[in-house]
Amino acid sequence: VNVDVKLGVNKFHVDEGHPHIILADNPDMAEFRKLLKACPAGLYKQDEAGNIHFDSAGCLECGTCRVLCGETILEQWEYPQGTFGIEFRFG
Ligand code: SF4
Repeated sequence: VNVDVKLGVNKFHVDEGHPHIILADNPDMAEFRKLLKACPAGLYKQDEAGNIHFDSAGCLECGTCRVLCGETILEQWEYPQGTFGIEFRFG
C-alpha cells in the first residue's frame, strides 16, 4: 500500500480561518525548499513560476517543518485547537 493511500484513511478537521501553521511573509527560500521534500504530507509546494504554496489542511502535526526551519519560514506553529486537526486511523 503506498503512502497516499495510507494518508487517505486519516481524517482532518479544519479550523477554517484559524490555521495552526502560518508561513512568514518572506520565508527564507533555501529553508522553504527543504520542506518540499521533508514535509511528509507534501503541503509545502513551489510551482513552475517559482511561487510558493502552503496549506495547513492535511498537516500530520509531525513538527518536521518547525524543527527543520523554525522561524526562518514560520510565523506560527501551534497544535490545532481542541477537536481540530488530524485524527489518525490505523489499519
Ligand atoms: Fe508538514 Fe509535518 Fe509541518 Fe505538518 S508539521 S506542515 S505535516 S512538516
